[in-house]
Amino acid sequence: MKNYHLINNGKAMSTLDSFKVFNPSTSELIAEAPKATLDELNTIIQSARDAFPQWSSLAYSERQNYINKIADVLEQNSEEIATIITKEQGKPIGATLGSMFEIGGAVAWTRYTATLEMPVKILQEDENGRVELHRRPLGVVASITPWNWPVLIAIWHIIPALLSGNTVVCKPSPYTPLSTLRMIELMNSVLPKGVINSVTGGDELGAALSNHSDINKIVFTGSTATGKKVMSSAADTLKHLTLELGGNDAGIVLPDCDPEAIAPGLFWGAFINNGQTCAAMKRLYVHRSIYDQVCESLTNFAKNIKVGDGFEEGAELGPVQNKMQFDIVNRLVTQSVEQGGKVLLGGPLDNPKDLFFPITLVAIEDNQNPLVQNEQFGPALPIIPYDTVEEAIAMANDNDAGLGGSVWSTDKAKASSVAARMECGSVWINKHGAVQPNSPFGGTKSSGLGVEFGEEGLLANTNIQCILS
Ligand code: NAD
Repeated sequence: MKNYHLINNGKAMSTLDSFKVFNPSTSELIAEAPKATLDELNTIIQSARDAFPQWSSLAYSERQNYINKIADVLEQNSEEIATIITKEQGKPIGATLGSMFEIGGAVAWTRYTATLEMPVKILQEDENGRVELHRRPLGVVASITPWNWPVLIAIWHIIPALLSGNTVVCKPSPYTPLSTLRMIELMNSVLPKGVINSVTGGDELGAALSNHSDINKIVFTGSTATGKKVMSSAADTLKHLTLELGGNDAGIVLPDCDPEAIAPGLFWGAFINNGQTCAAMKRLYVHRSIYDQVCESLTNFAKNIKVGDGFEEGAELGPVQNKMQFDIVNRLVTQSVEQGGKVLLGGPLDNPKDLFFPITLVAIEDNQNPLVQNEQFGPALPIIPYDTVEEAIAMANDNDAGLGGSVWSTDKAKASSVAARMECGSVWINKHGAVQPNSPFGGTKSSGLGVEFGEEGLLANTNIQCILS
């Protein structure tokens, strides 16, 4: 079994205690991960603090060069990292949207972010004076990540924070710590010491980071319930926050669509990473005139998708990553059927023996059904008919979450007018969940605070300083 270490101040750091990490496909023990104490966490935060003055005073272009070096080293080691992701997270290594795709996305995101500039803005220059708007780094940024896209989400946090001059402490989910530990070890082979550090252990480390007086910002991706805890414990030290929280994205199919043509896009919009994606489509509203055909096309498409161990030839989807999430999915599907849902494919399991949940489609009339109203974060999609577009928009917006949404139509102008009325941060047309590094992404309502990606995401790691002369 390979040894994994924390990285503190550029060097491997051992801990006395450890915790077990399992492969969700086989239940096998993969590794013991380091379990840091609060004292060890303090040491790591101090390293990040000590590295800050030098890192933040580098020229911006020097940090851009370092970020490109990170992209290179991750690319050179992408197979190794993808293998770790598949072992600990479950997504298949060779699938179109599997772990090689995740590391490929991480490299592409890193390279794109390195191209962003942060120029000084001149707000005034005339006979009355000159006003310059500068962006200054915050200090130490703590990144707290979930278990669904462990490497990609960590990259979304780490790269803009580093580029804008901050140093970082990254805490991955205890379910999937290994790929992050290895990635940060690799980053340290090309960065000055102390600039990016890792810490693994239990949830208590996240809580400790959130109220630590030497952390200036928390960028958190995870559930809405935990995000609220982070926000409240960050209050005492007035930390900057970016909170990327749970979603319950709606897709609206307008009556002009060709059901067979849109079936693959609808399927992957909902089932990417087995539905364990914040901005996956989690509710699908279809006009009644084409409802049966859409249900049938989607069912036919879904039947041919292979679910299996991520190292099995042809597997496109893996297991649910952990038992807690598996039970949530199974409970919501069970309740949806008890409350009138009709299973089109898959369905609830009586005595599950492993973490493989069947691809499940449920036809549902009632928008208050539990599978519609709650985030399932797994491979089960409710499909709800509607009669008027007004009704579809009202049902889509009748939820606390507001991360993403989508509209499906051959009429782009019509789709855009529906998109404008959806209460969420990103709306896709004829696709779903296709985040990209130049398009700021974040939630409205209970789905979060602030955005990542693009210039706006980069600037979220800075303070404004104006110099007036
Ligand atoms: P989670 O909230 O249980 O855990 C996320 C992280 O928070 C983990 O690292 C965990 O150790 C840490 N944590 C736990 N308690 C903490 C505390 N009190 N203070 C600080 N940190 C703490 O979420 P999860 O189950 O790992 O991830 C699934 C959820 O994440 C889903 O709701 C999903 O929608 C959401 N998510 C959102 C986005 C987005 O961009 N909006 C992306 C991916 C996942």
